[in-house]
Amino acid sequence: MATLETIRESLRGAADELNPQCRCPLDIAEVLARLGISLEFKAIQGRSGRAYLVIGDSASVVVSRNRTAPSLAEGDRFSIAHEVGHWVVWRRFGFLPSSKTEYWKHEALCNEFAALLLVPPRFLAGFLRDLEQRHRVYSVFFPKCVASSARVSWDVAARSITALPSARLAYLKLSTMKCEDSLTRDDSPQEILKVVCSSFAGRAGSFLGEGARIRDNQLSDWMRGLRINERATKPLTINLGQLQLCNVGACFARQSKNCWTVQFHTDDEGITMPSGQA
Ligand SMILES: [Zn+2]
Repeated sequence: MATLETIRESLRGAADELNPQCRCPLDIAEVLARLGISLEFKAIQGRSGRAYLVIGDSASVVVSRNRTAPSLAEGDRFSIAHEVGHWVVWRRFGFLPSSKTEYWKHEALCNEFAALLLVPPRFLAGFLRDLEQRHRVYSVFFPKCVASSARVSWDVAARSITALPSARLAYLKLSTMKCEDSLTRDDSPQEILKVVCSSFAGRAGSFLGEGARIRDNQLSDWMRGLRINERATKPLTINLGQLQLCNVGACFARQSKNCWTVQFHTDDEGITMPSGQA
């Protein structure tokens, strides 16, 4: 049986072979056609964008959608690329994950593959250099630019940037949420900030600090004072469970009324995380 590391290497190679010219945005439907995998759609009621792989006499990727738009949304594109990852593993190693642990490990590998396929590192390195040097874009806005050029979500873009060793950039996306277990004086749920995306990879496909709640009122008030698309820097000290920041030079930008991006450098001395991570 192949080790996970062998599968990972093989998937990395496959991402290169399937997008040798580092096309961005990649025509994922064309990749499927080239591989002889058919693309099908299934109408569903709930959350759209989920895809699954069917292997029979021939292979197909089925995308569940609750609408009939002809073009593929960012989520559809990523889900399809992820399923191509499962297909590559099946073709090259002759198996699909059988146990639950194996399943989650494969999910992480196929997510990594999908990101490499849709946001090729060679494209990304040049693209970031251009943004910084030619267009003078601040790094806190990089994920937004990468997302729109590669037609991927903000989360995938941010994680691709952090995965690029030369970039040394990490991102958090914070959003407000109503907290039912803490009430304001008039008994309505208090609004708190939550880390809805972290680009800082931990072990086995997890992302450090993701899901953490922020109960720092001073910080929240300061962030609420920013205008949409405004950028500001501030030393950040915060405990996000697996990720702790102490006096880390952070750059904040407000994306929308309820959403903020925080960017810092991965090699900042004030970052603490469980040993063996990063
Ligand atoms: Zn999967």
